[in-house]
Amino acid sequence: MPTDVVIIGAGPAGLTLANLLQRNGIGCVVLEARDRSYVEERQRAGVLDHYGGRIFEEAGLAGQVLAGAPLETFLELRYDGEPHLLDVPALAGGRAGRIVPQQLLVRRLLAAFLAGGGDLRFEAGDVAVHDLTSSPRVTYTDASGTTHELACSYVAGCDGFHGVSRRSIPEDELTTYTFDHGIGWYTVLADAPPPRHPLMAIGRHGFAAQFARGTAASRFYLQYKPGAEDPRAWPDAETWDKLRVRLGDPDLPGGVITDREIVEMRSFVAEPMAYGKMFLAGDAAHIITPMGAKGMNLAIADAHVLAGALTSALRGDDTALRDYSDVCLRRTWDYQEFSRWFTEMVHDTEGDPFRRKLAKARFDRLFTNHAAGVAFADMMSGVELVT
Ligand code: FAD
Repeated sequence: MPTDVVIIGAGPAGLTLANLLQRNGIGCVVLEARDRSYVEERQRAGVLDHYGGRIFEEAGLAGQVLAGAPLETFLELRYDGEPHLLDVPALAGGRAGRIVPQQLLVRRLLAAFLAGGGDLRFEAGDVAVHDLTSSPRVTYTDASGTTHELACSYVAGCDGFHGVSRRSIPEDELTTYTFDHGIGWYTVLADAPPPRHPLMAIGRHGFAAQFARGTAASRFYLQYKPGAEDPRAWPDAETWDKLRVRLGDPDLPGGVITDREIVEMRSFVAEPMAYGKMFLAGDAAHIITPMGAKGMNLAIADAHVLAGALTSALRGDDTALRDYSDVCLRRTWDYQEFSRWFTEMVHDTEGDPFRRKLAKARFDRLFTNHAAGVAFADMMSGVELVT
């Protein structure tokens, strides 16, 4: 008996889609390469924008997914050590995002899907898609090595940037865009008290940031020069010294560093986000720099559009499904532009004094021109597409 939709990947995109389809009474099977604890522990994003929150509210999932998640208040931008507070929700007309660590969101989405009787298969190996332009099938091996085959009406490729879905599309059917921002980011997770507000610091020593990850941990970011230095070789004491200088806080308490990662400041978009009866969502189709915190939010927004489109198609009207890629790409490029704009404003410009002055003018405008503040807050809170 074929299933309606096979979803490949149980990250924010796949699990949002699975829950929304389940609510709509559409059958789906989720195949995830890793085991449950790996998926539930993976720490990445930390902010669900207002638009993302509304998706869960409108689906009746707020109680299960958003309970206890604090609303965002101020964003602190520190320029050469001097603090500037931006009341983003007020500027966005009350549309506040929520502080939700990605692993908590994933854990809750997973629990909600399983509680609703969802079919989620962990440790699915060698996932492969077949016959995408006719009668799709997905094959995989389970943990014991047995091969299974799922026939389905549609496949949702939600398996991240390195997944199998996008790679299964013939090269000449996709146009890809890649942009290297020429900046390196080193991020560490530490048992260190979170800042009062999400904090970004701009200055001559390079960009740094600190965000809450729960009540007793922080994620820190440090700009570095790719090719010229390797931050993974920095002793932790050096990392803390750099953070104190760049955050303009000599008293910043240190703490045990529990995770160290290089974040690629790279942007990527694959067009279209569909091939035959397979639809890509989230990082499988696009990656974006963390400036603006849009990666996870784009994944959730894609899943929302796809859930509606698949539901209509399975009920006989495939108009929205045919528009799916165009609709999602419009938001993707809008966010890519915002992320690049933000990146240029806060990163050190290798000593180029003209670009530094331009970046400072952009920064000042946020605080002196109400319309500029509103436009910034609008993007931060998540954009409703106007057709
Ligand atoms: P993923 O989260 O990558 O999920 C894909 C899933 O598919 C995974 O569970 C994977 O195991 C599974 N999978 C992969 N291959 C296969 C296969 N062959 N078969 C079956 N399953 C497979 N975004 C923000 O919005 N704000 C931030 O502050 C932020 N910070 C980040 C910090 C770091 C260090 C990183 C790495 C990313 C950050 N991001 C941030 C980006 C954000 O985490 C991603 O955009 C988001 O996870 C995308 O969700 P997704 O579901 O599309 O993909």
